Amino acid sequence: MNRRTPIYEGKAKQLFEGPEPGTLIQHFKDDATAFNNAKKGVINGKGVINNRISEYIMLRLQEIGIPTHFIRTLNMREQLVKAVEIVPLEVIVRNVAAGSFSTRFGVEEGAQLPYPIIEFCLKNDKLGDPIVAPEIVIAFQWAQPNELEDITSMALRINDFLSGLFLGVGIKLVDFKIEFGRFYEGNTVQIILADEISPDCCRLWDIKTGEKMDKDRFRRDLGKVEEAYREVAHRLGVLPGNEVKEEVKKIAKTRKKGK
Ligand code: UDP
Repeated sequence: MNRRTPIYEGKAKQLFEGPEPGTLIQHFKDDATAFNNAKKGVINGKGVINNRISEYIMLRLQEIGIPTHFIRTLNMREQLVKAVEIVPLEVIVRNVAAGSFSTRFGVEEGAQLPYPIIEFCLKNDKLGDPIVAPEIVIAFQWAQPNELEDITSMALRINDFLSGLFLGVGIKLVDFKIEFGRFYEGNTVQIILADEISPDCCRLWDIKTGEKMDKDRFRRDLGKVEEAYREVAHRLGVLPGNEVKEEVKKIAKTRKKGK
């Protein structure tokens, strides 16, 4: 087996040095965490499914002119991406009140917002990813004013596009979190979409039943977590036959044996 140089290990993903300079390998794990790491678990096959879903979404976004870090899928769990300097912000876009937004403002979960709302959170686990006003982001130079402008306009465009994409497969895009990075090429720098877009970082509700099809099933112990992720992939048409199902079964079997 090839020894690879690990660059960074996050909660749901790992980054390795890529085959060419300026590239990284993004590996999707089955590990899941919630409530700032207080809850930990495994969602069997999640990494395989999120790799597919994120690939699909990044490609569709590239088609409408959103620059992303995605280069190509390497295998079931890995994709080749452009190395970027991550802007230390979690950019949250909300269409419908849910989660921390509902708790903070006492707004009923499910209430439609009059227009999409963007919130910036500082990427800092120790501080619990606090919400920051754009003024503070600029004062501390976490992003420059023009970068924040690019991030905001891309986030809104991504939201418009993905709302339609999910609506087309009977899913309401309630909210989601995205991250951006600085891509350096020669003497230019460009803000591009990085990280992933998957049910790990979106709230997705079935249009007809209102059923949750995202990580809230794990956070709130609602059961059928694997099934929900698989259903999202299935509706987007990215479940290649039984390939993923077989992989999930194989993993579950190996894990049982290991116990
Ligand atoms: N989110 C995320 N990572 C985080 C925090 C939030 O991916 O560290 C996503 C979450 O899945 C949801 C959206 O961002 O789709 C808004 O999350 P919220 O602020 O309501 O936080 P939560 O209720 O998840 O604590």
